[in-house]
Amino acid sequence: MLKPNHDPFALAQELSGYHFIDGELIAAQSGETFPVLNPATGQTVGQAAAGDSRDVDEAVASAVHAQRDWASKPARERGKIVAECGRLLNEHVEELGRLVALESGKALRTESRVEASILADSFIYFGGLASELKGETIPYNTTSLTMTIREPVGVVGAIIPWNVPMYLMALKIAPALVAGNSVVVKSAEETPLCCLRVCQLLNQILPKGLFNILSGDGPVCGGPLAEHPDVAKISFTGSVETGRIIHRAAAEKLVPVTLELGGKSPMIVMSDADLDRAVAGAITGVRFTRQGQSCTAASRIFVHSSLIDTFVDQMAEAVDKMVMGDPLDEETDIGTIVSPAQFDRVKTYVNLAKSDPAGTVRECATLPTDEHLKTGLFVQPAIITGLSNDHKVAKEEIFGPVTCVIPFETYAEAIHMANDSEYGLAATIWTQDLSVAMRAVHELEAGFVQVNQNVVVQPMLPYGGVKTSGIGKEASLDSMLEHFTHRKTIIINMN
Ligand code: ADP
Repeated sequence: MLKPNHDPFALAQELSGYHFIDGELIAAQSGETFPVLNPATGQTVGQAAAGDSRDVDEAVASAVHAQRDWASKPARERGKIVAECGRLLNEHVEELGRLVALESGKALRTESRVEASILADSFIYFGGLASELKGETIPYNTTSLTMTIREPVGVVGAIIPWNVPMYLMALKIAPALVAGNSVVVKSAEETPLCCLRVCQLLNQILPKGLFNILSGDGPVCGGPLAEHPDVAKISFTGSVETGRIIHRAAAEKLVPVTLELGGKSPMIVMSDADLDRAVAGAITGVRFTRQGQSCTAASRIFVHSSLIDTFVDQMAEAVDKMVMGDPLDEETDIGTIVSPAQFDRVKTYVNLAKSDPAGTVRECATLPTDEHLKTGLFVQPAIITGLSNDHKVAKEEIFGPVTCVIPFETYAEAIHMANDSEYGLAATIWTQDLSVAMRAVHELEAGFVQVNQNVVVQPMLPYGGVKTSGIGKEASLDSMLEHFTHRKTIIINMN
């Protein structure tokens, strides 16, 4: 068994230049690689294999082969193996936390270690669900046995993003494997090595070929995976733009697809809200510790006009106390933006808000001054007031530590603004009045609504959006049954 390696720099070197196909680390057929950066310093820390359609063909062929045997194992046996994967990952939490911190810039203590831990937990959770892959009997007539059974779909193609790469990958592969499928993953360009390591670790337990992973450019490697004729289901998390491309590829082949796309999630703070709790909830909700790089980030906060000044002051004061620094440093609350392209994008939106005479941008916390972090992709958290809900900054997904705080007078006005968005992923409402909360729960157009709290996605809760935020749910028993199996109807004539 591989021993945990707590030196992420050494581990990144060790894993450099590989896919993982059919039980082994293997270079891209092109022989090409691309650099993996440490966004805290801008330095190259490793290389990733630059996959293309040839690697996709090899990975899918291996997955087709592995799936047949796997599907014929009793479901509980599959579940036990997947739960075993979770226990193995638990022994590597520190290692994986450090590696994802290095690649993504997410602080180890507040984010990266937490991700590694929930990654392990997801495998244990889904492993335990194996015996829920049940069918039903249907009263058709007295001379036949009529029933349904659940069968795996076959090879699942999973295309994943960089913000919570290992956990979002787990929400696809753990249920897919328990349900009897094999999986080929295309990792995100920014964070290939942590996902490669997960694959390498799990391949010590899983039959070879069952879980293969490729790295590479989206259109060059992800495109052929989505289009591959032997990929029977595509599960995608990423931007709306790419989601449309994936959906078209699935439509062409007529295969099912799950799409987890963007968000511009509202948080509503009513006049009777517990202010301290709401402020703390806003800080968690905007995901400042993840530099706001979350689809569910509370990027629009609607606060009753009677509270807004105090709310913003308290929020800014609390964010000011957060420590920005080296993601691998235990003191750090907030690390860096993931990539230069994303850094430029966030800056463009902040500058747009600054250039609007109506806007006030409160930049909080202090940029690190350490010499080795001078070229790091650090962006100060920004709390923006004065802009309306239809301003570009309040409307478009920024995926940065930026939130717009907007006043309202009436409940109806707040709900109207919250729903006035192309997205519908998550929403929260903060109030002491349960009847108002209950009404909002029904009226908010979102797939995930919380009252007086803002927790992150959990393995057992269905998660997914409406409108352009996506199609289908991930996590939970339902996701395993609905998205990774199909029902077969059987009639046995007893006459
Ligand atoms: P982001 O802008 O957040 O990186 P993307 O949607 O571009 O979001 O990326 C999410 C994932 O989709 C990544 O793994 C990326 O490589 C992949 N991807 C991007 N474009 C395509 C495409 N045309 N076909 C398949 N996968 C793609």
